[in-house]
Amino acid sequence: SKVPPIILNNGVEMPQLGFGVWQVPDDEAERAVAAALEAGYRSIDTAAIYGNEEGTGRGIAASGIPREELFVTTKLWNSDQGYDATLRAFDASLAKLGLEYLDLYLIHWPLPSRGRYADSYKAFEKLLADGRVRAIGVSNFLPEHLERLIAETSVIPAVNQIELHPHMQQHASRAFHGEQGIATEAWSPLGQGKGLLEVPAIVAIAQKHNRTPAQVVLRWHVQLGNIAIPKSVTPARIRENIDVFDFSLDEEDLAAISALNEDRRLGPDPATFDMG
Ligand code: NAD
Repeated sequence: SKVPPIILNNGVEMPQLGFGVWQVPDDEAERAVAAALEAGYRSIDTAAIYGNEEGTGRGIAASGIPREELFVTTKLWNSDQGYDATLRAFDASLAKLGLEYLDLYLIHWPLPSRGRYADSYKAFEKLLADGRVRAIGVSNFLPEHLERLIAETSVIPAVNQIELHPHMQQHASRAFHGEQGIATEAWSPLGQGKGLLEVPAIVAIAQKHNRTPAQVVLRWHVQLGNIAIPKSVTPARIRENIDVFDFSLDEEDLAAISALNEDRRLGPDPATFDMG
């Protein structure tokens, strides 16, 4: 594949660039996933709450790509937290995906006020020990949530998937993950395609390299060592977004993008988000 791997803390290899399917309806997911696999993506990021695990699974099955060449992530929804509920939710997700094992299972949100993420994660540890998932991790965990999780459980999370793009660079989390050996995975890596791709500094870097703004932002993630999972349902953009491994940003480009940080979230604050 044209996408290099990140080696997770248990030795499992995860493609550094994958395909996200949030907001892709179930009946369109099969086609979108097929287009991504055709373009060379081998990592797919879905979640129980996205309601498209079945369509995602159909896209995977239809591709005919050997299972061991794929890396499939899904996430435990908030209402399924707790030890027993987590085990049931995992079975349901795997059945919808039509898979015999998962590559990465993530706790979608910490919901700190409910106090159930450590119990949920202990169920993840059982799924890992039973060989039903190759790596386990979390999403939207702040360093304080990770500290408590690490104190109360045995397996350091392989990944924390967090909102991360040039307007929300997550310096504290990235530093903490680095100390702990946790890979940082960027959700909404393109800032949801809103104003970010029109920012003059990014447009100028794109022109300099004869690339698109989306490619510049994704290349920035790659050079920082982030895992990124851009989403598109447009085949030309799907192809464009993975075509970032044959050019490099220089120090000046990286500095100009660093200067865009505003610590501004598009999504909810994990400390208070309590839906589902
Ligand atoms: P994104 O940053 O990937 O942006 C996607 C949008 O950007 C597209 O809908 C399109 O409008 C635009 N776009 C994509 N490619 C483009 C291109 N080449 N040129 C111009 N515009 C382009 O946003 P996202 O979908 O929010 O995030 C990506 C993935 O992250 C999701 O699909 C999902 O898998 C994951 N995610 C996870 C969480 C979480 O809580 N763990 C939350 C949000 C998203």
